[in-house]
Amino acid sequence: MSTTAASPLLAIEGVSVFYGNFRAIDHVDITVGAGEIVSIIGANGAGKSTLLKAIIGQAERVEGDISFAGDSIVGRRTEAIVHSGIMLVPEGRRLFASLTVEENLRLGWQVGRKAEIGFDDIWRQFPMLKDKRRQKAGLLSGGQQQMVALGRALLANPRLLLCDEISLGLAPLVVNELYALVPDIKRRGIGVLIVEQDIERSLAVADRFYCLLEGRVTLAGRPGDVTRDLVMQHYFGL
Ligand code: ATP
Repeated sequence: MSTTAASPLLAIEGVSVFYGNFRAIDHVDITVGAGEIVSIIGANGAGKSTLLKAIIGQAERVEGDISFAGDSIVGRRTEAIVHSGIMLVPEGRRLFASLTVEENLRLGWQVGRKAEIGFDDIWRQFPMLKDKRRQKAGLLSGGQQQMVALGRALLANPRLLLCDEISLGLAPLVVNELYALVPDIKRRGIGVLIVEQDIERSLAVADRFYCLLEGRVTLAGRPGDVTRDLVMQHYFGL
């Protein structure tokens, strides 16, 4: 597997995703480069989670092509996709509540590539997790659980990180702490695809963004190149 300057880390080309006969994603083209932060914004039901499911091999039916590091991954099993270097931080965190913080983190370490990012990096970034490493994850606050979920994904040393609504239901200060990780992730050359309903947050952190409406990309570009009004028009389909 190799990427060149001409080929992005992730390339979604002409992709449609179906639930039965319903086309939830409709001929979408999206790319993410190494070390690039790309946001997908869109209202409820726009198709954001469906798109992430398709990338990670969890969609029922996908048409078009999704390639990662130059190889097509459509039709591959999730396990193989994860093994190739894509990690999802799922909406709702999905930790094992009865396992300790450290045991949850170790799950990421075990499924991933053993590389640069180790436990010390996670402890340095989130010192409170080190203090609580022997506590059951289910007893942590929502924000601390999200740190574990993010830490677990990073310990797999992904080349591409997919983040599904990581700020949902969390206090702004905690969200700041989570997003403070982004420059470090970028510096390591990891590509990040962020799905957020919080438009401000999402655009503030992104190099590029795509706006989805009813399964179609209605606007794409660099956050600095568009006005808030233009984004809102496309977000709501006005
Ligand atoms: P939210 O922000 O509410 O999670 P979303 O942008 O992630 O929304 P999706 O959950 O991807 O949107 O849903 C896209 C469309 O697909 C919606 O019309 C939704 O009703 C439909 N959909 C999602 N999951 C299923 C399913 N399992 N079966 C049938 N239709 C589904």
